[in-house]
Amino acid sequence: MNDAENKDVRALGLCSGGLDSILAALVLRQQGIDVTWVSFETPFFSADKARAASQSTGIPLKVQRITDVYLPMLRDPACGYGKHMNPCMDCHTLMFRLAGERMRAEGFDFLFSGEVLGQRPMSQTKTSLRYVEKHSGFEGYILRPLSARRLPVTIPEAKGLVDRDRLLDLSGRSRKPQIALADHFGVSDYPAPAGGCLLTDVNYSRRLKDLFDHQEQVGEADLELLKYGRHFRLNAHTKIVVGRTKDENQKIIEHHDPADHVLLKLKAYPGPTVLIARCAPDVLTAKAAAICAGYTKAPLDREAEVLVQRAPQRETIRVRPLSPDKVNHLLI
Ligand code: SF4
Repeated sequence: MNDAENKDVRALGLCSGGLDSILAALVLRQQGIDVTWVSFETPFFSADKARAASQSTGIPLKVQRITDVYLPMLRDPACGYGKHMNPCMDCHTLMFRLAGERMRAEGFDFLFSGEVLGQRPMSQTKTSLRYVEKHSGFEGYILRPLSARRLPVTIPEAKGLVDRDRLLDLSGRSRKPQIALADHFGVSDYPAPAGGCLLTDVNYSRRLKDLFDHQEQVGEADLELLKYGRHFRLNAHTKIVVGRTKDENQKIIEHHDPADHVLLKLKAYPGPTVLIARCAPDVLTAKAAAICAGYTKAPLDREAEVLVQRAPQRETIRVRPLSPDKVNHLLI
């Protein structure tokens, strides 16, 4: 088989933007296969690295926001969570399912990814790769060019669309073969492996679990807000977000929804922006205002004035500041 024979073969690859994604695509492109990437986004992970990889390699990229389909899976992943709230097996399965639907709809011949057998202890064993493939609904259509010769023959290989002899047999955790391959392809500009998924972050995961435990309907803004500030749970129905820096205050303002949230700010001293649900009872809004004041230089033995923005109205309430050590136990 030569490159010219492959010119009509089209492959759609899942792209994380890391070196392995790039190499997998280049190994196929070397055979003359027309490669395109897809990358998925949610509030937990972005496609920015994939965008950069697409820019540097010229491989076209499609980005798809998948929060709506991701959340039901994340609430109850069939294979459970990893160390934190990361449902890696089901996450991969979902991504391959969505990529597979796109493959069918847009006339691609097969899917591929940069996964390397045995590189990650849990999600890249033979059994895991097999599980993902089987449950994605696209069994036989997922090619892993970097480890292909260690894995069963896929449909595109069997059909002669891909030359198996020109695929690789990498396995294990060593990065040396990939670095050598990167040299071979002249790839020097690639991000550090792994990282970037908030579902593997201990603090984010704790807040997310709290959110799932207390709130039936969860939207993008709720998930964005988990990234910023200190979070305090005042009762089963009410939590507040307290900005720690000017930037966080700004983010809280950006992601708040005036229809759902009230913002609090101390009048006389600089300090946090605090967010609380609009439906919270007055007594809890007052407590939130007291916590807000406690994170400023306002004297603890005097009442402070807190501005309550309940759009379109604004009012001022007076509260006695609550010092942080009195509310530490409420921190999520
Ligand atoms: S680390 Fe995050 S993005 Fe990656 S597979 Fe796991 S859950 Fe999905």
